[in-house]
Amino acid sequence: MRIAVPREIKNNENRVALTPAGAKEFVKNGHEVFIQRSAGEGSGFSDAAYQYAGAEILPTIEATYETGEMIMKVKEPIAPEYDLIREDQLIFTYFHFASHEPLTKAMINSKAVCLAYETVEKQDRSLPLLVPMSEVAGRMAVQKGANYLEKPLGGRGILLGGVPGTLPAKVLILGGGIVGTQAAWMAAGLGADVTIMDVSLPRMRYLSDVMPKNVKTMMSNEYNIRNFLPSVDLIIGAVLIPGAKAPHLITKDMLREMVPGTVLVDVAVDQGGCIETCQPTTHENPTYTIEGVLHYCVANMPGAVPYTSTLALTNATLPYALELARTGWQEACIRFPELKSGLNIIRGDVVYEAVANTFDLPY
Ligand code: NAD
Repeated sequence: MRIAVPREIKNNENRVALTPAGAKEFVKNGHEVFIQRSAGEGSGFSDAAYQYAGAEILPTIEATYETGEMIMKVKEPIAPEYDLIREDQLIFTYFHFASHEPLTKAMINSKAVCLAYETVEKQDRSLPLLVPMSEVAGRMAVQKGANYLEKPLGGRGILLGGVPGTLPAKVLILGGGIVGTQAAWMAAGLGADVTIMDVSLPRMRYLSDVMPKNVKTMMSNEYNIRNFLPSVDLIIGAVLIPGAKAPHLITKDMLREMVPGTVLVDVAVDQGGCIETCQPTTHENPTYTIEGVLHYCVANMPGAVPYTSTLALTNATLPYALELARTGWQEACIRFPELKSGLNIIRGDVVYEAVANTFDLPY
């Protein structure tokens, strides 16, 4: 198969869908790989590295789309790319169709086969192509939180782990899923006093088995959260209710119960945030302060660490992509049933119920 990888053109997107190591795997398996010039640059992968792996460099985005039977991307195609997508071409990327009607219509019209990373779902309901980005965001949340707790950046001036003779900072993590677990490991590693609140007892049992001594678990409810607020230094929002907006676990009035300089990192911002006062921010302008409480609500946290994010994402996508190339999408969806749930649009037909319902389209 001919696999082509365009350079991402969405604003501030530095990830790339295939690494030189991945290109080599395709070539080794008898496929041809085409990379748009400088597609890997933002993640630290040079054209020369791809060529060394056996890929061919193409000069333009047009030539890249023209050449590929399967297009591998990171972000959803944006308007200038719509007309470059051809009938029967397999597009393997994040799409997030339900949040973008023009994209959905354009992909229906293209008659391409659209396989969305975000809806690839295993039998146990896990989302293997979303997990790596949650892992990145969870770890980063603590890095950011520790940083913004510094006085010159607006925080209350406490070192996460303290030093001998001083108490460490108190970190409250709301939601002990992928993001929350990774955040807890990082905060615990830095010596903080960490509490994870969740509503799932089995999850908290698991966490209390595997976490170090400075991580405790507690049932998430308003009473427990309010009790924590006067003494907490950093709160990380990591709640997810699949398919729904995040519940507002920290309401506006609660901010007054916190010490000025408390830091809130709401990773759940992409689902509306679990902090009522959460508004999406960008890496250029990541924070704002309300009632003396610093908010960090960047919606695409992994975008700031494209090297790690690209490797984490492609570690998860490559095995599927190799199978798609080896057998074609129909066979691959039989061998890996989770890939079938990734199919959103096939040659003009919407085959993912939630997308069809969102835009009142036939399903
Ligand atoms: P997950 O499903 O693994 O974990 C969510 C956890 O929240 C579960 O353990 C669940 O039991 C818990 N929960 C549900 N209701 C709760 C409540 N009322 N109180 C406390 N806990 C509750 O999800 P995840 O992969 O960890 O993702 C968390 C959020 O982070 C999602 O909204 C996801 O989209 C977002 N995210 C954001 C970024 C970013 O860049 N901002 C990146 C990756 C993920």
